[in-house]
Amino acid sequence: MMAQLIDGKQLSDQVLQEVASEVELLRAEHDIVPTLAVVLVGEDPASQVYVRNKVKRAEEAGMCSIAHRLDAECTQDVLNKLIDHLNNDPKVHGILVQLPLPSHLNDEEVIASIHPAKDVDGFHPLNVGALASGRPSLVPCTPQGCMIMLSQVHPDLSGKNVVVVGRSNIVGKPMAALLLQANCTVTIAHSRTQNIEALCLNADIVVAAVGRAEFINADWIKPGATVIDVGINAIDVDGKRKLVGDVDFESVARIAGAITPVPGGVGPMTIACLLLNTTRAAKHQLA
Ligand code: NDP
Repeated sequence: MMAQLIDGKQLSDQVLQEVASEVELLRAEHDIVPTLAVVLVGEDPASQVYVRNKVKRAEEAGMCSIAHRLDAECTQDVLNKLIDHLNNDPKVHGILVQLPLPSHLNDEEVIASIHPAKDVDGFHPLNVGALASGRPSLVPCTPQGCMIMLSQVHPDLSGKNVVVVGRSNIVGKPMAALLLQANCTVTIAHSRTQNIEALCLNADIVVAAVGRAEFINADWIKPGATVIDVGINAIDVDGKRKLVGDVDFESVARIAGAITPVPGGVGPMTIACLLLNTTRAAKHQLA
C-alpha cells in the first residue's frame, strides 16, 4: 500500500483561490490592492527563482507585487533606507527580504527593521514572540503551509506525537510552536539529538526540515505515520540536476500513511501562505 499523497500544488491552488476572492473583496469594498514588496540583494540564482515565483503568483491572485533589486555590494545603509521607505509607504502592505543576504549584511538587523505589521515572513522578533506566546499575527509561511497540509489528513491534531527534525528560526522552531498550539506533543530534533531514529519511529507525524538530501528513510517511520517533507535539495543524478526532499520518498511512501512530495509539496504552499499573509496584513492595516 502506498501512502496518501498530500498534493501541495492542488492545495496551494485552493488557498490561492481564497486569496484571490479576498483580494477582489478588498478591491471592491475598499479600493485597496494588497501589495507585496520583495527585496532581493545580489544575484543568487535560487533566490532569483524564488522571487520570480512569488511575484508571478501574487499577480495571478490579483495582487500587486513589486520586486526591488539591489546589487550584491549594496551597503546596509542603502538597504535600511529602502526598508524605511517601504515601511512608510501606505500602498505597500507586505515586505519580504529574500534571505540569505550577502555576508556583509546583517540578516537580523534587516528583519528587525521591517514594520511588524508588514512583516509577511513573520520573522520580526515581535511576531516571533506573539507566536511563542500563542497570539499569532503574521505566522512564518512554510510552517503555516505545513499546518494546512496536515489538516488534510488530521482534522484534529490534539494529542499527536510529532517530531520536528530541524530547529531553524525559519522552519523548525515556528513549526514546533504551531504544533504545540494545536495540542500536539512536540519533540524538536537537531544535529546534537541522540537516537533520532528511535524518536521518529515513535512519532505519529514527522516534519523534516534538515537540509540534507533523503536523510530520513523508511526505517525511521512508524507504519501509517504522516510525513511532511520541507527539504529542497538539488542533487546530481546521472549528470542531471534533480530536486529531492529531506525524506527518501521512494522507501518512506511504502510505509507512511500520508506524505508530501518534493517538488510539488511544501514549496507551493509556502508561496500561497505568503500571499495569504499579505492579504491579512492589508486587512489589518485597513482596520
Ligand atoms: P537550516 O540549515 O537553517 O536548519 C537545518 C536544521 O537541521 C538545523 O536545526 C540543524 O541542526 C538540523 N540538522 C542538520 N543536520 C542534522 C542531522 N544530521 N541530524 C539532525 N538534525 C540535523 O535549514 P532550514 O530550516 O532553513 O531549511 C531546511 C530545509 O528546508 C532545507 O532543505 C531548505 O532548502 C528547505 N526549505 C524549504 C522551504 C519550502 O518552501 N519548501 C522553505 C525553507 C526551507 P543544528 O541546529 O543543530 O545545526
